[in-house]
Amino acid sequence: MGTKYVFVTGGVVSSLGKGLTAASLGTLLENRGLKIALQKFDPYLNVDPGTMNPYQHGEVYVLDDGAETDLDLGHYERFTNCQLTRLNNLTSGQVYQTVLNNEREGKYLGKTVQVIPHVTDEIQNRIHLLAETTRADVIITEIGGTTGDIEGLPFLEAIREFALEVGPHNAVFVHVTYVPFIKAAGELKTKPTQQSVAKLREIGLAPHILVCRCEKPLEKELRQKISLFCNVPFEAVVEEKDVDHSIYEVPLMLQRERVDELVCRQLRLDVPQPNMAHWQEILRKIIAPQRRVRIGVVGKYIELQDAYKSVYEAINHGGIANDCGVDIQKVDAEEIEREGAAKVLHGLGGILVPGGFGERGIEGKIQAARYARENGLPYLGLCLGMQIATIEFARHVLKLTRAHSTEFDPATPHPVIAMLDEQTRVTRKGGTMRLGAQACQLAVGTLAARLYGAFVIKERHRHRYEFNNAYRERFAKAGFVFSGQTPDGKLVEIIEEPRHPFYIASQFHPEFQSKPHQPHPLFRGFIAAALAHGSAKTQG
Ligand code: GLN
Repeated sequence: MGTKYVFVTGGVVSSLGKGLTAASLGTLLENRGLKIALQKFDPYLNVDPGTMNPYQHGEVYVLDDGAETDLDLGHYERFTNCQLTRLNNLTSGQVYQTVLNNEREGKYLGKTVQVIPHVTDEIQNRIHLLAETTRADVIITEIGGTTGDIEGLPFLEAIREFALEVGPHNAVFVHVTYVPFIKAAGELKTKPTQQSVAKLREIGLAPHILVCRCEKPLEKELRQKISLFCNVPFEAVVEEKDVDHSIYEVPLMLQRERVDELVCRQLRLDVPQPNMAHWQEILRKIIAPQRRVRIGVVGKYIELQDAYKSVYEAINHGGIANDCGVDIQKVDAEEIEREGAAKVLHGLGGILVPGGFGERGIEGKIQAARYARENGLPYLGLCLGMQIATIEFARHVLKLTRAHSTEFDPATPHPVIAMLDEQTRVTRKGGTMRLGAQACQLAVGTLAARLYGAFVIKERHRHRYEFNNAYRERFAKAGFVFSGQTPDGKLVEIIEEPRHPFYIASQFHPEFQSKPHQPHPLFRGFIAAALAHGSAKTQG
């Protein structure tokens, strides 16, 4: 059987959860025994999202191969077992860069270089390339943005041509649309969906399945109306209501609506029903956990839903692993600066300081780390969160009062965190940090080795600064433990404070490798420690 293709587009508004829909469909197809691959096309002109700030783009998701990608790829990895590489995220920036390089190299000699066919061919090449390299049964390609965006047009044209080339039962178009509830009228409205589908049809794309995002149930009459006006069979107008508890409900919701069946039928795929028993078990733990715990995430983008997406997800996975519901309290580091750590962090079972760049909120994070260390409050630091813990220990235990990272104070007398050697010559910004999966050796008898149950691990990185080895001895003498380092011993990867019930931080980003069905060991341990902290307090 040749590869089959699913294209997921979005209509009406952005933030509809297209990525979740694509990932959930991936879950269902994978659990029918198919090998799947997921791919995201982003129409913006940045070569990758690595240079965008979280207000623009939310989290930057890092892959094993060091690609800095769209956060939807995080959903793909969490929902499925597919292996993602930089081939799985294509932006207009990359497409144009390739086309312009080709032009300069004389590959189109004599021709006028145009959007059709040169840009659209380049987009199609990427789909073919993924099919060749993954040998997947089904490739799900999500087109970012909303139908009608000018910059999305070449992508829509490319998939139209692609579908024509592979033939009618080899490609299926799924359009995720919005059916708003208008309070004043007391009803759901289908007009935006009609218009969005009309827009697609104008450019030659006719969706086979409409996934209707809505707050209220989509009644039969409305489905009939959408079916009639949008030229989609009645049973292919499906409801995707807002979830009650968790995004991990979406695959089961789509299964109830038979989306996977519709896709398989359209693609002439004769495969068994998906086995979702393990997924239902995950959901049971999320909906009816035995216990609850409250975790503070101390950051500077706390008002943004998407800035620490993988971190929030990994915390929830830690909850699943402990049969425990987690209430995440988003703590503004600057509020700690104003109000003091004791007041703001009161009542939490543990705190997590995630990755970040730039000076804002740094002192608040340092105060949070100090409060956690001095009060036996479980602490998990990720990337910047490790650097914060280091600075805090230097200042308050080693009494190097002006210790800092050279990122924030280039003139500090005690640069306990300093730029990586390899970074000092880097001038270009995109894709130039220490990126991707790197091996890390764990020291015997440490909390890290106990949690991982292994001595060599691989974790993903995204940073320019590191622990300054000139200070290793002083830290070690004061009881600070370097429990993980690169196999050559040159870079510190994990630190811990062994006199504390759970105080550990990593230079890497463990959150990128956590899945609901494979919770990451650091998060599993963190939530267990937070639970223990809570019960110790109630007993005491
Ligand atoms: N800003 C820090 C560095 O570049 C931390 C990066 C991060 O947290 N991802 O090293």
